[in-house]
Amino acid sequence: MKVKVIEENCAGEGFCVEEAPGVFEIVDGVAIVKVDEVPADMEDAVRSACEGCPTAAIEIED
Ligand code: SF4
Repeated sequence: MKVKVIEENCAGEGFCVEEAPGVFEIVDGVAIVKVDEVPADMEDAVRSACEGCPTAAIEIED
């Protein structure tokens, strides 16, 4: 699984970091993805972050 953040849509409040801190990080007020490939044990957390992102800024690419 790959995931990306649409930076212009990100509100930067960090919900995704709380859900999947190994995958997302806030840099200069915007979430970034720290990994090229989401580890298998983080996939559920990334899906949860995607579903819970208040601005729908997270896109999952299988
Ligand atoms: S949950 Fe969405 S809006 Fe919030 S920091 Fe993460 S990508 Fe940005």
